[in-house]
Amino acid sequence: MNTSSWLSQISFKQRIWLFSALAGMLAIVALGILMDSPGELKETTNFNIDMSIRDIAPKLGVTGKGLARELELPLDVSKEKPVRTLGVAREELDHAIEHILSHRDATLKYCVYAALVLLGLVFLVRLGRPDGSDIKNRRTWYPKTPYVIALLFSVIVAGFILGKSPNPMEGTVKIFKSMIGLYPDPMLKLVAFTFFIILAIVGNKMICGWACPFGASQELIYSIPILRKIKKRKLPFVFTNIIRVGLFIAVLLLMFGIIGGRRGFIIYHYLNPFNLFNLDFEAFSILLTVIIALLVSFTIYRPFCQFICPFGLVSWIVERFSIFRVRIDKEKCTQCGACIKACPLEAAEGRVKGKKMPADCFSCARCLNVCPVDAIQYASSLKKGIK
Ligand code: SF4
Ligand code: SF4
Repeated sequence: MNTSSWLSQISFKQRIWLFSALAGMLAIVALGILMDSPGELKETTNFNIDMSIRDIAPKLGVTGKGLARELELPLDVSKEKPVRTLGVAREELDHAIEHILSHRDATLKYCVYAALVLLGLVFLVRLGRPDGSDIKNRRTWYPKTPYVIALLFSVIVAGFILGKSPNPMEGTVKIFKSMIGLYPDPMLKLVAFTFFIILAIVGNKMICGWACPFGASQELIYSIPILRKIKKRKLPFVFTNIIRVGLFIAVLLLMFGIIGGRRGFIIYHYLNPFNLFNLDFEAFSILLTVIIALLVSFTIYRPFCQFICPFGLVSWIVERFSIFRVRIDKEKCTQCGACIKACPLEAAEGRVKGKKMPADCFSCARCLNVCPVDAIQYASSLKKGIK
């Protein structure tokens, strides 16, 4: 269905919802522009290898340990000596500084995330089908265009224009990095993480489904209507989640030096696909992760999110408390399996079968209009009769 036909068929009330959502998004982004301080531009030329870690780190907003980690030195290395005497070359220092500066916590980007989540929420709850539409006609009513526009906006604006940071994956990892003293402002990292968690609680994984630029990149590739037969095969959630949990535990054990004895070694750093948005592939493994995740997305739904992303894991746990999410009216549901077939994961199946910990649901809307008895909705926990 094209956008003009969708717009002409939604009710007057729905149009008001749509324009209110767009106005809300504009207001949030405008607020972000006003609040965003460009900060003092730091150049790598302002630093040299005759300076010590203690001289450089505060100017970059990291702790001495944080800079030592970027320079691939032990966290307890001397912070007083010139970094040259620690064996650091000029290029290594420049590279470490560039990497630290690429982690700019822009207020505007948080606002863009919030604006996209607002749009997604209004779309899923109020706009996905015309008011009073006939159930029989709804199968043709999944309006892909607004979703694709939101995803492209996320990739272009929240990704390539605003750069890789902040993002939900790094927001999660930075909490643990703060615990080993890599940042001077752990409270700010906690606030950033809480922001992403709140968005995930407002609407089930809405931040992943509608706002995360790498999630959106995978979603857009998966949505290309090719290789449909292969796409029908879903990976067992127990398999993908065991790998995701196992990796998370391994990352923590290595990061805290419980295994390997090198505190501050962070595997996710070598698998961070958000570097794509800065076109900065500082390690070959990062480029490989991006290429594999995007290529595999032609056949498997969001492979990076399913196998690797720590925020994907954390928000899967948080889904239990989401206010808005896919809910099923058990009285009406005949277990016909239409939504299970439409879902690219085992998420709809888990919900239909009433599992306590069903697979991640990315609020993609594929299942919402396929139910022949109208038993499935994206609704709040306050709505009666559905769970
Ligand atoms: S799970 Fe996927 S969509 Fe969610 S933050 Fe991670 S990469 Fe982004
Ligand atoms: S199709 Fe699956 S992932 Fe998408 S909204 Fe429905 S249950 Fe969630």
